[in-house]
Amino acid sequence: MDLRPDDATRERLAQARTLGRELIRPVGLEADRLGRPTPPDHPFFEQLVRLGLGRTRWTGEPPKKRAAVVGNARGMLCVAEELSYWDRGVAVSFPGPGLGEPPLLSMGTDEQRERFLTPFRGSDRPRWGSFAMTEPGAGSDVAGIRASARRDGDTWILDGDKSFAANASRADWIVVWVTVDASLGREGHRAFVVEQGTPGLGGFHVERKMGLKAYESTSFTLRECRVPAANLIGGEEHYARRAGFKGAMQSFNATRPTIAAMAVGIGRSALDEAAAFAREAGVLRDVRVRDRLERVRRRLRVARLLCWRAAWLADHRQPNVMEASMSKAFAPTAAFEAASLGMELLGMEGGRGDHLIEKLFRDVKAMDIVEGTGQIQRLLMARKLVGLPRDPA
Ligand SMILES: Cc1cc2nc3c(=O)[nH]c(=O)nc-3n(C[C@H](O)[C@H](O)[C@H](O)COP(=O)(O)OP(=O)(O)OC[C@H]3O[C@@H](n4cnc5c(N)ncnc54)[C@H](O)[C@@H]3O)c2cc1C
Repeated sequence: MDLRPDDATRERLAQARTLGRELIRPVGLEADRLGRPTPPDHPFFEQLVRLGLGRTRWTGEPPKKRAAVVGNARGMLCVAEELSYWDRGVAVSFPGPGLGEPPLLSMGTDEQRERFLTPFRGSDRPRWGSFAMTEPGAGSDVAGIRASARRDGDTWILDGDKSFAANASRADWIVVWVTVDASLGREGHRAFVVEQGTPGLGGFHVERKMGLKAYESTSFTLRECRVPAANLIGGEEHYARRAGFKGAMQSFNATRPTIAAMAVGIGRSALDEAAAFAREAGVLRDVRVRDRLERVRRRLRVARLLCWRAAWLADHRQPNVMEASMSKAFAPTAAFEAASLGMELLGMEGGRGDHLIEKLFRDVKAMDIVEGTGQIQRLLMARKLVGLPRDPA
């Protein structure tokens, strides 16, 4: 595995660092102070679009072997880590197709990629896509989703409730997972692109969160929501032989290492803040403090290598399900330890609630929850270890 970033990644990292210092960190602190997401008409988003950010990675060509990621997965991870170093909430608020992109890449037809991703190829304005799997009664138990779809001529009628979907109320479209028959479990799953403004899509409610306040996590409802059959991702033939569920899992194998890399970014930031505070407070003389700081750095490096390994396998079109889970199970705990140590060193300063470490401590917790909790990843890996089938998601 060659660990050196290529020239394009190096350039993007330098851009992320400058953007992070000058814009991302201040925008994140502002959202945290105000306790609400950065509004879609904030000039920050226009600026990102002018810089050529917020675009799809789809080049217009059919993706190789229907992969859920196109381009350089490891390069993407490095940039995601760096952006999250400055503010992970802001990184998720960036315009772009977001988590809606992987299912379109891996399962979508050429016509669907053309329709839904082309507007993101050279955006004239900030645009967002979104991904909604979670429901009030179905988080880890992905197979238990109850939002339903029934066919009616050339359309499908969708009904149900979705929770915590990133950027959903501002999105041009949302990739919504539903079931055609809940008794079929995963085999009944279908993914639709539901376009903003479709009658029956509504009830948007931006949730309150303990951290990552810069981006919106939104619940919404589908009530007799009529969607054209052409918006069923991959068309009906795709869903033969559990392909729908495979599509969701392919998406997660692509996105879990990215979430893990983002956790590493938050952890690095917490470590830098903790070490700076310890230096200022004069406690670096204490070998116990130095040892604990070093332990955090070591665990973050291990986490990063796990992420890179998962991405390297994806780049070489090799299965990465185990490595994706490993990175997702490990990185958030390492990052949490970094923020936790920072809070401990800060003592009273941290308790006041106006130090960056305190914000990072609130931000980092979600990294263990989203895209499959750490517990679920450990469960999956343990089942694989002893040769049991995958269950749950
Ligand atoms: C900030 C944030 C952003 C999010 N963004 C999105 C998004 O963009 N799109 C989207 O669809 N969803 C999103 N989610 C939802 C997220 O994916 C779910 O919260 C997550 O899957 C966990 O589901 P749950 O909250 O229902 O917890 P539950 O599934 O109820 O789990 C609660 C606890 O029980 C444990 N547990 C559950 N099942 C088992 C089991 N079988 N064995 C052992 N332990 C188990 C879990 O590990 C966890 O600790 C987001 C959530 C958050 C907090």
